[in-house]
Amino acid sequence: NVIHNMMTSKLAVHFLHHLSMQDIEQLVKRNKLEQRSLRKKVQSILDDVQRKGDKSVLQFTRQFDKVTLDSQLVLDAEFTQAENLVSENMRRVITTAAQNIQTFHKSSFWEKSPVVETTAGILCHSETRPIQKVGLYVPGGSAPLISTVLMLAIPAKLAGCQEIILCTPTDKKGNINPHILFAAKHYGITKVFKIGGAQAIAAMAYGTSTVPKVFKIFGPGNQYVTMAKQLVSSAENGPAIDMPSGPTEQLIIADSTAYPKYVTADMLSQAEHGTDSQVILATTSVQFAEAVQNELVEQASVLPRYDIVAQSLKNSFIVIGQSISNLIAFANLYAPEHLLIQTQNPEDIASKIQNAGSVFLGHLSAESIGDYASGPNHALPTYGYARAYSGVSVASFQRIITFQKISKTGLTTIADTVTSLARAEGLEAHARAVEIRLSEKSV
Ligand code: NAD
Repeated sequence: NVIHNMMTSKLAVHFLHHLSMQDIEQLVKRNKLEQRSLRKKVQSILDDVQRKGDKSVLQFTRQFDKVTLDSQLVLDAEFTQAENLVSENMRRVITTAAQNIQTFHKSSFWEKSPVVETTAGILCHSETRPIQKVGLYVPGGSAPLISTVLMLAIPAKLAGCQEIILCTPTDKKGNINPHILFAAKHYGITKVFKIGGAQAIAAMAYGTSTVPKVFKIFGPGNQYVTMAKQLVSSAENGPAIDMPSGPTEQLIIADSTAYPKYVTADMLSQAEHGTDSQVILATTSVQFAEAVQNELVEQASVLPRYDIVAQSLKNSFIVIGQSISNLIAFANLYAPEHLLIQTQNPEDIASKIQNAGSVFLGHLSAESIGDYASGPNHALPTYGYARAYSGVSVASFQRIITFQKISKTGLTTIADTVTSLARAEGLEAHARAVEIRLSEKSV
């Protein structure tokens, strides 16, 4: 292992009881993302793809990914080749992770609610329907995100989506990582396209001669992908998206029963994602915080992605609270994507958590287990969006349709309520649509 230069600075430490409410609000704010020039650049890519279709997409692939493709669509022969390149061991672990993801996601699947008689003679219920066409984006770049394929394809398939397509950029030779293709083929994806960045989002949003237009786009990505998703979702007739997003993040609540070694390892597993990742340790113990600071230097020094880690720790900090309830209040304000609770009674704290993407309870619950294989989804709201958004689930791939049936008794029971409300709103035709039925002897 290469031993890297020791990190020169320690994490910033904030004592919550020394801070004003304004200071705390400042602390929970994420780094501001540079939006204006990015928006302009991405919009011009989207417009070009919308106008020129595949020709434009291929041109951006040449420009940004430095590859000239004969076919954007992955061919059967490429799937077969990929299948042969995946080792027995990798097949086994991908299948194991997939089974857990499937088991968890199945537990929240529903097709039909009970029929409810809201008042005499009025029967109502809900049914779910899959979104017919969905597009999944799997980032390329340094890490081939096999787990992201599983986390998106499995709930899409369980929901019953008819067309599930996937876009991902290739390497400079025009190849996709074989594990990505293996996972895609085995978990219900009908078409895979070698397209990355904003042009992939544009192709799925508007459709081209080869890429079908979809109704909802899912998946993480870099700033171009994120901005493109945001822009297409607000365009006229644009697709929906899973959620807005920002850099990935983690907050750990730890008391003096926590293990500095474990907490540090979790912080580093988050920090190695990218230079813009943020990790926060919230603890009641100054000694514990110091032990983690020392341990960070030690454990980080041998990591292959040390440079990324050292950079992202600069965005990171420690907060010291006088009580666990102060730390819970801080966590609820921050609304972390991942919340780890490493205290004596994590369940007691869990019930008080209002805002978080996914919660990991207890000393043994490492975030990386959830990132890959325990079952819950790893596509989660970042950047404080956990205050209003949920992570991806089967429900993200469904819509709910409501049904109602009114009998003669129902009509009589509800008539006065409806006609009075309609007339109070000045909508006479609404009132008459009820009265005309009441006056009919045949009903
Ligand atoms: P990516 O697939 O997101 O982006 C690569 C594409 O970006 C390329 O195909 C190219 O077309 C486009 N691109 C590159 N340079 C460009 C430029 N100058 N102008 C326009 N387009 C350009 O892969 P990546 O870049 O490796 O990024 C992966 C991202 O995914 C990271 O930012 C990571 O943080 C994020 N991610 C987030 C989560 C999460 O849960 N929040 C999970 C996994 C990954």
